[in-house]
Amino acid sequence: MRTGIATVSIAGDFATKLEAIAAAGYDGIEIFEQDFLASDLSPQAAGQMVRDHGLEVLLFQPFRDFEGLPDPLRARAFTRAKRKFALMNELGTDLMLICSSVHPQSLGGIDRAAEDLAALGAIAAEYGVRVGYEALAWGRHVDDHRDAWEIVRRADHPQIGLILDSYHTLARGIDPDTIRRIPGEKIFFVQLADAPAIRMDLLYLSRHFRCMPGEGDLDVTAFMRAVLATGYDGPLSLEVFNDQFRAGLPRLVALDGHRSLINLMDGVRRAAPSVGVDLPAMPAPAPVERVEFIEFVTAIGDAPRIEALLESLGFRLTGKHASKAVRRFQQNGVSILVNTEQQGYAHSAFLSHGTCVSEIAIVVPDARQTFARGKALLAEPFGDGPNPGELDIPSLRGVGGSLLRLLDDHSDLAQLWDVDFIPIAHADDTGAGLIAVDHISQTMPFDEMLSWTQFYTALLAAKKEPMVDVADPEGLVRSQAVKSGALRVTLNGAEARRTLATRFLADSFGAATQHIAFACDDIFATAQALSENGFAVLPIGANYYDDLDARYDLPPDLFARLKTNNILFDQDDTGQFFQLYSRPFGDGLFFEIVQRTDRYDGYGAPNAPFRIAAQARLGQPVTIPKR
Ligand code: MG
Ligand code: MG
Repeated sequence: MRTGIATVSIAGDFATKLEAIAAAGYDGIEIFEQDFLASDLSPQAAGQMVRDHGLEVLLFQPFRDFEGLPDPLRARAFTRAKRKFALMNELGTDLMLICSSVHPQSLGGIDRAAEDLAALGAIAAEYGVRVGYEALAWGRHVDDHRDAWEIVRRADHPQIGLILDSYHTLARGIDPDTIRRIPGEKIFFVQLADAPAIRMDLLYLSRHFRCMPGEGDLDVTAFMRAVLATGYDGPLSLEVFNDQFRAGLPRLVALDGHRSLINLMDGVRRAAPSVGVDLPAMPAPAPVERVEFIEFVTAIGDAPRIEALLESLGFRLTGKHASKAVRRFQQNGVSILVNTEQQGYAHSAFLSHGTCVSEIAIVVPDARQTFARGKALLAEPFGDGPNPGELDIPSLRGVGGSLLRLLDDHSDLAQLWDVDFIPIAHADDTGAGLIAVDHISQTMPFDEMLSWTQFYTALLAAKKEPMVDVADPEGLVRSQAVKSGALRVTLNGAEARRTLATRFLADSFGAATQHIAFACDDIFATAQALSENGFAVLPIGANYYDDLDARYDLPPDLFARLKTNNILFDQDDTGQFFQLYSRPFGDGLFFEIVQRTDRYDGYGAPNAPFRIAAQARLGQPVTIPKR
């Protein structure tokens, strides 16, 4: 699989773009003319710079408003094309993209366009270059790849071929299977992009909201299956116009893009094993069976406060790490570790984040398979050199530099608690009825949301919920829930107010886990147990309960119990949802306790503004980690 990306997809000047693209492992680039013009490099120097980065110039684009023009505009278009062919010779690329005309004076007619392209093909041959014709979804006369193909077919010139772009086909709702009847050798190039399912002008959507395959809602997999069925074996290149990416970290965006191509083609292979996909084999995405533990790192002096909070939640100290300053607190199937190491990974996480969630351990069917999939998808493996006799747990770098530990129940990794931990005996204690980790909420700058959503959905067998908006006193927060088996993660993104420079310095380490929600079976029994333990609940304002009373016709005694216990309530046609919160600790971390009934699958989004307002009243940091 040869991969490419258009320079327009990445932030920075020409050299920065090339560095990021090369580092992410692509084979080549599409030079977007504006990026070249802005560079002030000579064409030869620009081409050399590309090759010095180990990259190939796959395509020069775009050449606009060529076909169907009346004279003298037509003659001028040919002169312009010759100038660009000469430029391509100097750059060292042999393929130019012409997009279907939007010129107000361009004339329709498939034969007219075909004749223009055939005439251009003859000139292109003199320069040793080829021309690919692409239907823009908003082209004046040609806005459909089927018409573009008919024009190319009638032009019938070896230098003239078709360029397909998943966005232009899928955003217009054109059946991608219509691609299957095009001969693969006449498809000169394939551009890939996804987009969210938002109703808006296709040009505006394209220029601002395209995203990497898998990050949006278009069926790019079906598009690629159809492309491969034609026998096309040329490069797969990302052409993504996105406001966030153009302001994002070049290396992060370039890497996300390459990961999206690998994940896309892995998905194509799984959907259509008979289609030959040229990609190294990798294990299938698997669902998460459970969250085994969550580790907090904190200062020695702050640990007693966190441990007291855990005890008030019904957790009991049940183990100490054999060689590290790590204590295990447990309640039913839930383990929370408190790490106060003064060296190594945990300590560096503490130095960069303060008290934070440093590790999340998930149980998957086969930890080493999921780890191998992560590596194939360009996730960063992490090895912290276990002490002799301790387990070497496969780990990947996750959100904000935290670790995603991978365990399973069928290998030596099942022995974690017996091998690495010294148990502390306890009188039998069922705690406060917390039975599992319900969800993990992670907060990040908005421009990292697509990246981390892709991390989870590519690595694991996972599905995304529709994004929801949450009104925060500091601005709108967008929330994206991802669910993989027993793992639920909510990713919350706020518009970044930091500058590009500070983001670069901080890399992606501004992101962090913000709250952990535990599941229980009986929220009122749990609330009672918590209160007996001295748990300090987040007080919810009276206005919330007045509104709740107005919205739902709840039985009076249920309503009274909700209000007395500071429990938030949500209901839809799938079931009911009960929530209560701890007060914030550390730099705005908190715990949530939830109970779901029937098939309720949400996160109480209607309640979030009330929760945030309640936290704000305590004068504690909320929502966005400010470091
Ligand atoms: Mg395109
Ligand atoms: Mg929550």
